[in-house]
Amino acid sequence: MKNIHYRGRFAPSPSGALHFGSLVAALGSFLRARHCQGLWLVRIEDIDPPREVHGAADDILRTLEAFGLHWDQQVIYQSQRHHDYQDQIADWLAHQQAYYCQCSRQQIRSRGGIYNGHCRQQQLDSGAIRWVNNQGCDHFIDQLQGPIHTDAAFAKEDFIIRRSDGFYAYQLAVVMDDIAAGITEVVRGADLLEATVRQISLFNALNAAVPDWLHLPLACQGPGSKLSKQNHATPVDKSHPQPALNAALAFLGQPQVEPCGEVALMIHQAIAQFDLESIPKQKEILLPQ
Ligand code: GLU
Ligand code: ZN
Repeated sequence: MKNIHYRGRFAPSPSGALHFGSLVAALGSFLRARHCQGLWLVRIEDIDPPREVHGAADDILRTLEAFGLHWDQQVIYQSQRHHDYQDQIADWLAHQQAYYCQCSRQQIRSRGGIYNGHCRQQQLDSGAIRWVNNQGCDHFIDQLQGPIHTDAAFAKEDFIIRRSDGFYAYQLAVVMDDIAAGITEVVRGADLLEATVRQISLFNALNAAVPDWLHLPLACQGPGSKLSKQNHATPVDKSHPQPALNAALAFLGQPQVEPCGEVALMIHQAIAQFDLESIPKQKEILLPQ
């Protein structure tokens, strides 16, 4: 029987094919959800058209299937959720909980780098939209990394929820989507560890239950340099998933699975063997060159 209380998700941006680093995030969140007998949902974070690669979303979904990572329910696309984001922003604008800002990056840098609320009282009617961040949550407990504290000024910043080019900001979309999907635990890469405090502030402002957080180590090519679509990490091989699957399991400190030619059996074994305690409590792990 499924534990309907646990709802996890994988939320890739369609900016390129699934590479080893994103496979680790997909596999880690999948194994955790399945080991808890919960649901595992997939959301395509296609809110940033300039960074989108044509065909990448479908390619990512086909790759998940090839690795035996089958999701529950319908895939959600952020590009189809604009109305909800816009309604929330309109509501905040009407209640002075959000405001337009026309400060340039350079102006913000010259005032110390963290946005100081400069445009809060300006009554502008165009530009980027910032959220009045009265919450300023600056700490949380991560299920893997332990207590996390961020810089208080960063945590309190009125961050952008809609960009000046009209696109919605990741921070807003991710929180509204996790609320809509009833996500109980977010399992993802440790590159989003800091951003989590802002997301918690949004969950609180929206009167929603804050999920648990579990940030997996990032696969890095060198210190501070994560594998990413931007630095052209090699896509994983859909036609021959077993080597990458075992490499991702090893990365997560999990035992290997028998190479049996049948990906469903290998995944089944990986779920049964999954042990949260064995995942390295590190923010990044350097890959052998
Ligand atoms: N779409 C984000 C990324 O690919 C992940 C967002 C998340 O898991 O919260 O980096
Ligand atoms: Zn401003």
